[in-house]
Amino acid sequence: MSMTCEQFVELVTEYLEDAMDADTRQRFEEHLALCPGCVIYVDQIREIVRQAGQLQPEDLSAQARDQLLRVFDDWRPK
Ligand SMILES: [Zn+2]
Repeated sequence: MSMTCEQFVELVTEYLEDAMDADTRQRFEEHLALCPGCVIYVDQIREIVRQAGQLQPEDLSAQARDQLLRVFDDWRPK
């Protein structure tokens, strides 16, 4: 049972904090292997966190997340 992009996005901060259980992590990485858009998303979040320094992933606003979900809408088949 693979996860959706929305579920994936919800879990990204846990992934970056290494706060996932093994089962969730496996499903997350399965999605990552199949979904180029989510690979880009994770890279973007990593970069934002790196640039921000002290910014914790959970500080990423819902606004930033909505923005990225709109990006998904652009490449996702209609
Ligand atoms: Zn995805």
